[in-house]
Amino acid sequence: MTELHGKGVSKGIAIGKLSFYQREKICINQFHSDDSKEEISRFRSACDMTLSQLDELYKRALTQVGEDEAIIFNIHKMILDDSDYVGSVEKYITEEHLSAEYAVALTSESFASVFAAVESEYLRCRGADIKDVSDRLMKNLMNIQFSNENSEHEHVIFSDDLAPSETIGLDRSNVLAFCTAFGSSTSHTAILARTMKIPAVVGLGAPALDEIFNGKEVIVDGTNGIIYIDPDEKTRTEMTRRRRFELEREKLLRSLVGCDNVTADGRRINVYANIGSIDELADVAACDAGGIGLFRSEFLFLNGCSPREESQFRCYRTVLKKMNGKPVIIRTADLGADKQPQFMEIQKEDNPALGFRSIRISLTNKDDFKVQLRALYRASVYGNLSIMFPMITSVEEIREVKDILKEVRQELVSEGVPFSDNVPIGIMIETPAAVMISDLLAQEVDFFSIGTNDLTQYTLAVDRQNSRLEKFCNPHHTAILRMIKMTADNAHKHGAWIGICGELSSDTELTQAFLEMGIDELSTTPSMVLPLRDKIRRTDLSKSNELESLLCVNN
Ligand code: PEP
Ligand code: MG
Repeated sequence: MTELHGKGVSKGIAIGKLSFYQREKICINQFHSDDSKEEISRFRSACDMTLSQLDELYKRALTQVGEDEAIIFNIHKMILDDSDYVGSVEKYITEEHLSAEYAVALTSESFASVFAAVESEYLRCRGADIKDVSDRLMKNLMNIQFSNENSEHEHVIFSDDLAPSETIGLDRSNVLAFCTAFGSSTSHTAILARTMKIPAVVGLGAPALDEIFNGKEVIVDGTNGIIYIDPDEKTRTEMTRRRRFELEREKLLRSLVGCDNVTADGRRINVYANIGSIDELADVAACDAGGIGLFRSEFLFLNGCSPREESQFRCYRTVLKKMNGKPVIIRTADLGADKQPQFMEIQKEDNPALGFRSIRISLTNKDDFKVQLRALYRASVYGNLSIMFPMITSVEEIREVKDILKEVRQELVSEGVPFSDNVPIGIMIETPAAVMISDLLAQEVDFFSIGTNDLTQYTLAVDRQNSRLEKFCNPHHTAILRMIKMTADNAHKHGAWIGICGELSSDTELTQAFLEMGIDELSTTPSMVLPLRDKIRRTDLSKSNELESLLCVNN
């Protein structure tokens, strides 16, 4: 048995025969042509043919994966409409007397290399889109068939990488999973895999692409990012059992879409989703989350440069519009510590988790902070927005934040820019200090959300980045549970609502205890929304009490 590790980008387990992706080699055999007119005409009819194939792929994607993902094929069509792209091909043909296919190849190479050199992963992926559409164009120019788009038997695809159109071209009824040597979790291909619900593992590394594996039995564990080639009996039995369990569980969970998050004895709780980018909105819709309880906006700032007001505004507007009136809590940039932005020089610190991070950066770089707040307020008219501030440790800090919010609102009024006059504000409770003064903080804000990841780190003095400390990091520690209870009591005493958005929110061993504490909202990764709903619906608070004993455990 060979076990290979990569990155699981689409959950699920698949078992089948491994089949190397047949990519028809594009071998250009005519490089030059003296008949430029004929080449231009060949190029234009290949463009027409490509456009109609892209139309077909768009329609197929629309029914299989929905509008958001299908849009990629419209982007590909736009490339063929782009005057720089088309102009470059035609210039090669007329000025250098190149054949149409060679002109497309050179244009593809030069455009894609510009994108390949940029830092931003998003833009690098757009380079892959240019290559993808150019390859299609070249195949059409040379009459090469697209054989993988209609394969006959069930198999697991193995490839160096898959372009978006190759992924959507896969016949869902025959493709059990796919594995690639390269690729990232944010590429369109990974996103499509998740949406199509095909288990997928990417980034297995080039040596994994050994032709001797072709045709062998393989088990793909898209949840953990592992593939087993020629599995031994023990692994096959175990993975078959897990697969059966996952399928049954998935079926059960799907039946909970549309149901309420209400316990057997009638206690209701909001279950929201955490996201870090707009790419995850499809997951939020699929899991039927009641809202977004944490949008980690700092991920917008980790792509090289600081996003301008306009691009932030557009992003927040998209989220709000997509959520269609459901609550959306956007946390202002929580930078520093493990989330170091490249555009900002943060001095090297001995203890970055205790350093210049989070709200401290915002309150120091007020101009950047105000840009984000302006973008948020401008977007507020498009939905149900709340703004949340990370790592607040004192009343002074939140008061300073509120003064800045007031300034921003005044500026917008004087500029005649509309914004909602009902944008609740909340803070993350992430430090023991915030817990201890939660009675005072609750009087300043509309809501709290407990960041149990940081609260555990700061309470137990365990660096959350240090894997050696795993055994010392017990988020079930009585100290943590008492802190959550204390914060909940203080919030409610002063009319604020309280949620949990750290990883502990989806720990179903604690769901009943959180309900007993009166926690109003749990926000978690989209894949945990339905499991949490299931647990809540199976809980009966009238039958037992779990909290009391947990608060007294000696650990
Ligand atoms: C937390 O600390 O629990 C939290 C939700 O914030 P982050 O994980 O982004 O630090
Ligand atoms: Mg945190």
